[in-house]
Amino acid sequence: MAFKIYNTMNRAKEELVPLDGKHVRMYTCGPTVYNYAHIGNFRAYMFEDLLRRYIKFCGFEVTQVQNLTDVDDKTIRGSIEQGLPLKQYTKKYIDSFFEDLAKLNIEPAEHYPAATDYIPDMIAIIETFFEKGYAYQSDDGSVYYSIDKFAGYGKLARLDREGMQSGARVAQDEYDKDNAADFALWKAYVPEDGDVVWDSPWGRGRPGWHIECSAMSMKLLGESFDIHTGGVDNIFPHHEDEIAQSEAATGKPYSKYWMHCGYLVVDGRKMSKSLGNFYTLREILDMGYTGREVRYELLSGHYRQSLNFAFKSLDANRAALKRLDEFHATIKEAIGAEKVADELPEWASGTRAAFAAAMDDDMNISGAMAAIFDMVHAGNKAMAATPLTGKQAVAVSNLWKELDTVLGILEPPKEEISADVAGLLEARAAARAAKDWAESDRIRDALAALGWTVKDTPEGPKLRKI
Ligand code: AMP
Ligand code: ZN
Repeated sequence: MAFKIYNTMNRAKEELVPLDGKHVRMYTCGPTVYNYAHIGNFRAYMFEDLLRRYIKFCGFEVTQVQNLTDVDDKTIRGSIEQGLPLKQYTKKYIDSFFEDLAKLNIEPAEHYPAATDYIPDMIAIIETFFEKGYAYQSDDGSVYYSIDKFAGYGKLARLDREGMQSGARVAQDEYDKDNAADFALWKAYVPEDGDVVWDSPWGRGRPGWHIECSAMSMKLLGESFDIHTGGVDNIFPHHEDEIAQSEAATGKPYSKYWMHCGYLVVDGRKMSKSLGNFYTLREILDMGYTGREVRYELLSGHYRQSLNFAFKSLDANRAALKRLDEFHATIKEAIGAEKVADELPEWASGTRAAFAAAMDDDMNISGAMAAIFDMVHAGNKAMAATPLTGKQAVAVSNLWKELDTVLGILEPPKEEISADVAGLLEARAAARAAKDWAESDRIRDALAALGWTVKDTPEGPKLRKI
C-alpha cells in the first residue's frame, strides 16, 4: 500500500516518497503571533497533525518544523498599539498557542523557530540575490525581489505570466493574485516600526514575511525537503514567493510536495479575524465544550474541503464520542487482568486495512472513521451475544491504541477524580472491610449522585463515569 497525497504543485494525487526514502521532512507555516489563534487557524494545524501522525503510522520518521511569525506588519502594529516591546507582546500569544495545541492533542512539531531568531539567515539569502541579480533596492531603501528574473514564478498558483506587473512593487506582506508584482524582501525602517529594527548591508530595516519562511525552512530542513503545508490562502502569494526565493538562492528544487487545506467557514464565509466571524479555542472551551470535541470537529471533514463550523455539530460529536467511550469501556472490562493478546475477533479483523486504505487515499478521513464505527457497531452486537475472551479484548485494545496514534480522539481522556470522589471511594473500601453493607450502599449512591459508578473487580474497585 502506498500513501497518496494531493500535491498542489501538480494538481494530482501522488505517492509520498521521501527524498531520502525513509524520513519525511515537512514545513508548516505557523501562526502570526499577534493575537489568539482562532479555530480556523487550528483547522490548518489539525490537518498538519493528522498528516504527520499518518506519515508515522506508515512507518516513516518525521521532522516537522512549524515557524512562529513574530515579526511582520501585524505583530509590529499590535505591539505599538499596546506599547509593549515586540518580544514581550508576542510571548503572550506564543504561550497561548502552545496551550491550545495541547488542549487539542496536536502533537508537538520537532522545531518551532521564531522569525526574529533567524534574521542573519534571511540577510544571507538576500545577499545571494544581489550577487545573482534577483534583488534590487528601491528609492526608499527597501529591497525587492524581481519576479521576472525567476522563470518559474507563478508555477504553484498557476499565474499567467503575461499579466504580471513585473517592475511594479508591492510592499505589504499580504496581497492577491491580481497584484502579483515584485515583493519586499527587506523593508527599510520607517518610524511606525518603533524599535523593531535590524542592521543589514542595505541599511536598517526588517524582513518581509516571505523570506522568513524560506530562511527557517532551509536552515532546519535543508535546501530541498519533502512537504510544505498551509491553508489554501497561503498558495499565493506566500508559498509562491517562498519558492521564488528558495529556488533562486540555491538553484535546487525547494519542496517536493505542497499540501493545502480548505477553510473552516461560518455561513459560507472563511472564518477570519478580518471578518470578525471567529471563535478562539478558549471561547469555545469556556462554553463547556472539550478540546477533544473540537478536535473531532476539526478532523471530521476531508482536509481539502471547506468545513462548516456550527455548534450543533459539536453537540453531535459529544454523542459520537460517548459511543466510542462505551465501546472502549466494554473492551477494558473484558480485558480484566489479561496482558497477552490473541487474534482479533472476526468483526475487528478487517478494520486496520479498511482504515489504512481510506487514509492512503489522500487522508480520506470519512472512510477511516467509517471503518472504526463499523467495527464498533459490529463489535457491540457480537459482544452482546458472546463476550470476548480477555486475550481477544487485549488485541482489540491494541488496535484501538494503534489507530489512535493517528486520530488522537479514541482513547478517553484520563478522568480527573475530585478529592470528594476519592474520599468516598476510600470510605467505601473501609465500610466493605468492616462488612457494613448499608454504609457501602449509601456511599455507592453518593458516588452515583456525583456521576460515577463503582464496580468491584479482582484488581480492586473501578470507577466509571456515568
Ligand atoms: P495566519 O496567522 O493568518 O497567517 O494563518 C495561519 C494559518 O491558518 C495559515 O496556514 C492559514 O492558511 C490558516 N487559516 C487561517 N484561516 C483559516 C480558516 N478559516 N480555515 C482554515 N485555515 C485557516
Ligand atoms: Zn510561511
